[in-house]
Amino acid sequence: MQLSLDNKHTKIVATIGPASREPATLRAMIRAGMNVARINFSHGDQQTHGEAIRNIRRIAEEEGTVVAILCDIQGPKIRIGDLREESLILESGDSITLTLDDVPGEKGRVSLPHPEFLRDIKAGVTLLLDDGNLQFQVAAADARQLVCEVVIGGALKSRKGVSAPNAKLTLSAITEKDRADIEFALEQNCDYIAMSFVRSAEDIAEMKQLMARQNKYAAIIAKIEMGEALENIEDIIEVCDGIMVARGDLGIETPAEEVPYHQKRIIKLCNDAAKPVITATQMLESMTENPRPTRAEASDVYNAILDGTDAIMLSAESASGSFPVRAVEVMSQIASIAERDLQDNSVRVPRIDDAKPNTGRNLVSDAISRATFEISQLLNPKAIVTTSLSGYTTRLVAKERPRNPILCMTPSATTQRRMALVWGVTPLHVAEFSTIDEMIGIIIRAAHERNLVALGDRLVIIAGVPFGIDGQTNLIKIHIVGEEGEI
Ligand code: ATP
Ligand code: MG
Ligand code: MG
Repeated sequence: MQLSLDNKHTKIVATIGPASREPATLRAMIRAGMNVARINFSHGDQQTHGEAIRNIRRIAEEEGTVVAILCDIQGPKIRIGDLREESLILESGDSITLTLDDVPGEKGRVSLPHPEFLRDIKAGVTLLLDDGNLQFQVAAADARQLVCEVVIGGALKSRKGVSAPNAKLTLSAITEKDRADIEFALEQNCDYIAMSFVRSAEDIAEMKQLMARQNKYAAIIAKIEMGEALENIEDIIEVCDGIMVARGDLGIETPAEEVPYHQKRIIKLCNDAAKPVITATQMLESMTENPRPTRAEASDVYNAILDGTDAIMLSAESASGSFPVRAVEVMSQIASIAERDLQDNSVRVPRIDDAKPNTGRNLVSDAISRATFEISQLLNPKAIVTTSLSGYTTRLVAKERPRNPILCMTPSATTQRRMALVWGVTPLHVAEFSTIDEMIGIIIRAAHERNLVALGDRLVIIAGVPFGIDGQTNLIKIHIVGEEGEI
């Protein structure tokens, strides 16, 4: 596959599962536009996940691109145990006991192996199962079991989620299973760890401590799916590396009718903070079974992009659905059309008065990234080239949503992979440089070798001099490829 600058700007995160872990499928998904592979530790086992991660990395390299690995950690998600049959049909008025005992679930009795959860549940509490499809009311509770009445019935399947939106839960944000999975994910050198059911900035701090103990780090994505997280959203955004609007559980913990409001608000806050944001869950849900999306789903993906999301995500569509590759293709197509609209109608117009009084360093970088946007609007360069160690400068430019592609030239392989999630960015790994001439030579040759630029193309290059200190961008050069004899 040829890396190309005409690719869509919006990034696609695809969940890998039984429907997509075959190498041929992974390759087709990468070609169709998958930028980030999500491994969900709520399902499957470590060995299968490890194998998928190795395959994704190998195939991405063969395809001349990078795909970031995002390990999604289950968190204190409460799930029922396995059922004796494929599904259990429950009708309103039925009585059902959820028990700590390891019983094969059947009519009247299903296992719920979560003592810490049972402790917090009292009679009168409402339980929502399977993303809110079924509803129980707790009639009697003790430390070992909950006797419930079915309020809204339906077909219950094994290992479906249980939540209690109006109970005060005291569960820790990181469970024993999570610790083992985090350790495993870090050993695999994953790029992002997504943390489920984050409530506050302190939860993120706990994750950072865990990483520090292992002396291995991944960027942290906070999944916003609890009411408490919405209250603390600004603090959470400040300490994490990215956000996922996890609409599945968010639509249970808060009324589903409010989810669009939260989505738009969270995306805006992330854009302002220059942190990548993923919009997730049910984006193309009907494509789990059908080759074409509903009109409502096409609109949902399109509108999330107009809202300003960096990335759009596939869950069951790619993990267990019948059309994983087609789903990526459909997302790519919708993204390309939405991006045209983004350019025509809602281009960010940077205003000097939104410059928040910040540290001097941020103020200069901010000024440079805004100027880069303005220059690009006027000159329409082939690409904006950013040089960055941590990716900070690149994120600041992406935040302005320029219409031209952004090349991130970085000497850090870690940064290169992390940048796969950021809107509009094509990340490239280059050697370190120490002078401006050397920089021009290295970055132009890197882009030219991959046929991303040709002789005579105009580029806007931004950099920080002296080199090697991050976040100190202070130079803009308008460059014509070949003008200094660099190729
Ligand atoms: P989360 O709350 O973390 O999103 P989820 O149960 O909703 O968890 P998703 O990753 O959103 O899971 O995927 C949707 C469905 O796809 C799951 O309910 C499951 O049936 C299936 N799935 C996902 N990953 C796997 C996997 N590795 N193995 C088997 N099935 C999977
Ligand atoms: Mg979830
Ligand atoms: Mg989900």
